[in-house]
Amino acid sequence: CGIVGYVGKKEPVNVILEGLRRLEYRGYDSAGIAVGGNGDGLQLRRAEGKLRNLEEVIRNKPLEGTYGIGHTRWATHGRPTEENAHPHRDCTGRIVVVHNGIVENYVTLKKQLIADGHKFVTETDTEIIAHLIEKYFIGEHVALEDAVRKAVRQLTGVFAVSVISSDEPNKIVAARNGPPAVIGLGEDEFFVASDVPAILHHTRNMFFLHDGDLAVITPNGVKVTDFDGNVLERKPQRVTWDP
Ligand code: GLU
Repeated sequence: CGIVGYVGKKEPVNVILEGLRRLEYRGYDSAGIAVGGNGDGLQLRRAEGKLRNLEEVIRNKPLEGTYGIGHTRWATHGRPTEENAHPHRDCTGRIVVVHNGIVENYVTLKKQLIADGHKFVTETDTEIIAHLIEKYFIGEHVALEDAVRKAVRQLTGVFAVSVISSDEPNKIVAARNGPPAVIGLGEDEFFVASDVPAILHHTRNMFFLHDGDLAVITPNGVKVTDFDGNVLERKPQRVTWDP
């Protein structure tokens, strides 16, 4: 239900948890976070219930890195358990995905992926997105952004997704078709979030993705394309109001 992603010099865990807290008004039943960049692959922490449960998990087993994504889930497919909490992984654990919305055709896609040898560990519609990306990114050596494009083109339903991989560090690929996604531009730091208040204390310079937009977020800036890869121009605006 709520997404926050961060690439930059601050500790991503803090930026993401604070952002998710500011999205709590959207409602949720579980939460999770994934970070990369400390040389240990991608690290995940997830918890049922309130954000303070996730914070407790992180206190007991801290994680750090240089980029990451977090999520508060409002379950639509699969019970609100820790297992079903986002982020969701592919088979290799090198790709993780957070998702707002519903993948309408996930049963069909899941059957195909299982026939191709993919193993599923959750009851969610979201998990198929991680496996679809794996099919292209790991299976066919396609660049991460192209693999995400190929994957989202096959989804029906509504989604805002953010994806990271340990194979392409310090990068978030975000795509939108339905639920809102705002991109924040700071100084050598960049954000993605479901809504403005999540990141407004870091930057006032931002723009919303349009339906059909895909953003590639790195410490050097943000590139926006359509789902076919054509580059689009999205002008940032200065947010002058306060939440
Ligand atoms: N459909 C997904 C799930 O049930 C995402 C729900 C959400 O938007 O939080 O896990």
